[in-house]
Amino acid sequence: MTAIRLASAGRHVMVFERNDELGGKLSSRSRDGYTFDTGPSLLTLPSLIDDVFRLAGTSLDNEVTLQRLDPSFHYFWPDASTVTFRDEPISTAEALEAFSPGSGAEYLALLARARAVWNVSERTFFAGDVSSPLSVLRRMRSPRDLLQIDAIRTLQSRCETSFGDKRLQQWLARYATYSGSDPSLAPATLACIAAVEADHGSWYVRGGLGALRDAMVRVARRVGVEFLLGAEVAKIEALQRRVTGLRLHDDQIVAPVVVVNADAEHLYRDLLPHTKRLRSVQQSERSTSGVAVLVGVEGRTPLIGHHNVWFSRDYAREFGDIRAGCVPIEPTIYGCISSVTDPSQAPANGENWFLLINTPADPTINARDCGPWLLDQLAAVGPDLRQRARFAEVIGPHDIAMRYCSPGGAIYGTSSNGRNAAFRRPAMRGPRKGLYLVGGSTHPGGGLPLVTMSARIVSNTILRTHRER
Ligand SMILES: Cc1cc2nc3c(=O)[nH]c(=O)nc-3n(C[C@H](O)[C@H](O)[C@H](O)COP(=O)(O)OP(=O)(O)OC[C@H]3O[C@@H](n4cnc5c(N)ncnc54)[C@H](O)[C@@H]3O)c2cc1C
Repeated sequence: MTAIRLASAGRHVMVFERNDELGGKLSSRSRDGYTFDTGPSLLTLPSLIDDVFRLAGTSLDNEVTLQRLDPSFHYFWPDASTVTFRDEPISTAEALEAFSPGSGAEYLALLARARAVWNVSERTFFAGDVSSPLSVLRRMRSPRDLLQIDAIRTLQSRCETSFGDKRLQQWLARYATYSGSDPSLAPATLACIAAVEADHGSWYVRGGLGALRDAMVRVARRVGVEFLLGAEVAKIEALQRRVTGLRLHDDQIVAPVVVVNADAEHLYRDLLPHTKRLRSVQQSERSTSGVAVLVGVEGRTPLIGHHNVWFSRDYAREFGDIRAGCVPIEPTIYGCISSVTDPSQAPANGENWFLLINTPADPTINARDCGPWLLDQLAAVGPDLRQRARFAEVIGPHDIAMRYCSPGGAIYGTSSNGRNAAFRRPAMRGPRKGLYLVGGSTHPGGGLPLVTMSARIVSNTILRTHRER
């Protein structure tokens, strides 16, 4: 996204990618007629990507077929209760009212609050760099904004004051995991994601999110971005206080500006060793990682949707396990079955199940053993896929760490745990002139919408700071 923005503004942009395919964690895999998105499966705020495509003279609608999902999510609990969220708040409130009397009104009240959080966050926190809390304060209109963003209390506390029903507290708490965070540590600000989903929709790209990656690459090439694949950056070169370019294993590239999309820890440990910055990166907590199982399923499963969540009995214990560095004993399981919406993603009479649980960012976790165990766990609370699975491939923290150089296999870079997490993320400006960071480990954090915002903030800074010669 940064490359498209800069190239659309007339800059010469080269992208160096260590893997033999582009897109990073936005990736997909096909086997025996089944296609799986192995990273993002839920797209929110596609308008952010549309903004970038428009700078390149096209639009998201021109490049991909977008589908707004309705229903958006199917939620299941161990007591066999279930509720389906619709793509429209009033219908969802009605479903909730039938699920748990009183909760329809609680949901609408929560959305009103969450919208206010989103509106203020969008024009303050997400509108620019946050090199200091003061820079955000300057973008606030009044002290009331400070209270609106609800950053003092934790998300868990917001859940408890918003809903009487513990199941719906768990539903709201799950939004912490959208940034790989822990609801009892992350700020209540994250409740705004509930409003973003309810008002702006949960989206799918026909052909899978891999089609979105292909569109990004296509648009980037059209505006002149050059890509080098299998090009591992070994060092970032600097002379005195300025970057001068970068070194590949077998080549040297001269550049006045270097934008690093890799994780900040990799940058300051390996690419441009910097003890102070490295120490500070290591102090900001990593996001969670996960174990994903890609299951090629035969036959059709009743009562499921595109996005499904089977909640654990005890969320506090689940996150306690993660904090203690363990795979949760009883995990909440997210299941994306995009073939429900898009039959091209599985053979006729088949389903492409992508299962994901949260784990600590620890590459020593034995993900291979988690595969069969996760199917057992799912069978205990939901569909039993064990007899219908034609294959099950596992991706764990070690795979994520190795493939993307993401320390620990962290999915979202740095977490939002703690009141000051937003300000402790590695800064967008590096310690040398011309060096910038973008993506999940810097401001404003991980997930497709936030890394797209990150690209906007850093590109605007570069275009302002480095005039064309
Ligand atoms: C299993 C999973 C599920 C997810 N689900 C969702 C979801 O549903 N919705 C959502 O919005 N987000 C989701 N995400 C998060 C989302 O994928 C990320 O936040 C986002 O893609 C990160 O983008 P990035 O550019 O910051 O980093 P990356 O995608 O990690 O890109 C960094 C790139 O830099 C390359 N690189 C690193 N070091 C070097 C080097 N030295 N030389 C050359 N290249 C290098 C890497 O290979 C990689 O391609 C998910 C992620 C995962 C893994």
